[in-house]
Amino acid sequence: MTSTLPSSFSSAASAAKAPQPSAANAAPDVAPLPVSLRIRERLDAAAIPYLANDNIAEHLLEGELDQLEIEVAGKVRDLLRSLVVDIDNDHNTEETAERVARMYLHEVFKGRYHHQPKIASFPNVKKLDEIYTVGPISVRSACSHHLVPILGNCWIGIKPGDRVIGLSKFSRVADWVFSRPHIQEEAVMILADEIERLCEPQGLAILVKAQHYCMKWRGVKEPQTSMVNSVVRGDFRHDPSLKAEFFELVKQQESLLST
Ligand SMILES: [Zn+2]
Repeated sequence: MTSTLPSSFSSAASAAKAPQPSAANAAPDVAPLPVSLRIRERLDAAAIPYLANDNIAEHLLEGELDQLEIEVAGKVRDLLRSLVVDIDNDHNTEETAERVARMYLHEVFKGRYHHQPKIASFPNVKKLDEIYTVGPISVRSACSHHLVPILGNCWIGIKPGDRVIGLSKFSRVADWVFSRPHIQEEAVMILADEIERLCEPQGLAILVKAQHYCMKWRGVKEPQTSMVNSVVRGDFRHDPSLKAEFFELVKQQESLLST
């Protein structure tokens, strides 16, 4: 089949790309804005924060995540070139840019770009009010400062309120919250906010123990150091014996791990 394009098409097209300052009537050659810029302008106009550990899923239009993947891959390609990696000839890094873009947007930072997993809550019909803990729940994040992994465990203590959620749902919401660039102190607060929103407990306690690869892999290179922090709210905050019971239950769950 012969082409329907005129034979002069390719040369005409390349000529059109060249700057033509004298062509006063020609339409201005305006490149479309990068999708990330369009999104940032929209968020700025609506005064919506988009810090590294914010979720922006509900502000993305249909198709923009796919466009972001293409844009980010291009920038990672530029990063590799700036690091003087011959991505055109190195078979190992040939498609690294595309892999990294997918990994950031759909895996390790999916908690920024994807909606919270659907989590149904149920009325606490039996009026349960004894505390329970769930853990360890694996948490995986990356530090906002270096974008290297933070890996650890989390324990969640609940004194139920009017609504309850299934145990596995704590893992799902923790995974979604931690899959963003973070500092550990803020990650725990954001997780606490989400759990309070989901099941409105009378008391909530969260403990996170994590290893930070910006301390293990680089910097001071301390392989054993971990960071432990916690947040206690509601009855766990007001009642010291309840708080002590939470930490005791976590200790018991940890001892189960070594048996
Ligand atoms: Zn760091």
